[in-house]
Amino acid sequence: MSARELHFINVTLPLSDERGLFELKAVGGRWTSIVPQETVLSGDGSFVPMSALAGEMSRLKAAGRIDLQGYMMLPGFVDAHMHLDKAYSLSQVGNASGTLLEAIANYGAAAPSFSKEDIRGRIRKAALRALSYGTTTIRTHLDFRLRSGIEVAFRTIYAALEVREELKGIVDMQLFPMCPYDRLTTAEQDAIEEALRLGMDGMGGAPHLSETPESDIDRIFATAARWGKPIDLHADESDDPSKQTVAYIAEKAVEYGYGGKVTVDHLCSLSAMDTRRAEEIIGRIKATGLSAVTLPPVNMYLQGRGDSGLIRRGTTRIRELLDAQVPLAVASDNIQDPFHPFGQGDLLKIGLVTAYAAHMGSSADLHALLRMMTEVPAGILGLTGYGIAEGHSADFVLIDALRADDLFTELPVGRTVYKQGRPLYTSVQQSAWGLEELDRTEEQAQYRLA
Ligand SMILES: [Zn+2]
Repeated sequence: MSARELHFINVTLPLSDERGLFELKAVGGRWTSIVPQETVLSGDGSFVPMSALAGEMSRLKAAGRIDLQGYMMLPGFVDAHMHLDKAYSLSQVGNASGTLLEAIANYGAAAPSFSKEDIRGRIRKAALRALSYGTTTIRTHLDFRLRSGIEVAFRTIYAALEVREELKGIVDMQLFPMCPYDRLTTAEQDAIEEALRLGMDGMGGAPHLSETPESDIDRIFATAARWGKPIDLHADESDDPSKQTVAYIAEKAVEYGYGGKVTVDHLCSLSAMDTRRAEEIIGRIKATGLSAVTLPPVNMYLQGRGDSGLIRRGTTRIRELLDAQVPLAVASDNIQDPFHPFGQGDLLKIGLVTAYAAHMGSSADLHALLRMMTEVPAGILGLTGYGIAEGHSADFVLIDALRADDLFTELPVGRTVYKQGRPLYTSVQQSAWGLEELDRTEEQAQYRLA
């Protein structure tokens, strides 16, 4: 059996509607068969137990028939909002006040000192680190500060294009430049169009930071529509309840027939404004067909800096957006940079912080969180053939956990990541894959097949 032919038995699929164990086959990097099992299968001696592979990449590459012993398989995570170009810049760019505005100013001041090679190295490192935790597709925003000079702004664009090409089929990347704001010159508008011509996947920006947000939003929609590109905007990342650019973004989305092509991120001010107005805006987001991304760790770090005593969490109204059935993803945002000194690109950790921030702890909540890092962002990114289903690409992560609850309580270090049926990464530590004799069979019988 070639490495591209895969056959797994005794697999738990936490996103499946059906309980129990599954048998899965893939050929040529695509799933060909996914069948619920009646019982725990014993294999016929040709299946390698997952625990015996513990972190051994060479054996994993050779093994096409694997007994997963009840452990979990999830589709490759989709991180819908990162800033790979800024990742790991913390040692060069500080942020004494811990505010969003100082982070923006300090990064802007340092940007001319970063070479294209520096930026390329950071993008590559952050993308591969995310891959090691199970992320196989990323949408990254890119610094595109034309006021630092066109040559400086394009260093990031070229660096990102090179890494996107290099990592294609390993970690797929969508690139969204953060379009500058405030009274653009013709030369700056030309530069935005040049970036799109070079292959940007869509248009980003942060119009709530502008003195002229409405005209900036007008321009972004006009340009995106001309190029047929989706829009993904930082929206109202502020504790100030009067920041409501999302309402105008929704208006423009209706005008351009762009509802399904617009994503709004952060929406922190929704939590600061009165509930009636917030409900109105959430209703408009839903009616317009906008998607949203929440980024709780970074919000909790940057927002609420003016508060004392009870410090607000800074996150959006996560529960209300979910209740309104707005497609809402969780994502990493920044990694070890002036915006956020922590983070590794592990969406399970982001999920755990989200669970704390939004009081999500029930089984239904944890299932919703898993969807917020897989199926929902896959929809936002417009991925086709995503998920563990026949005919779809075999992009998946095997996780050292038997129950969905374990994902968020244990944050298992044991992860093995495949893309298009190829094993790309497995934890090098001897993780709990090697913790034998947990009496798995009995646990499977109890939890899976009862
Ligand atoms: Zn961001």
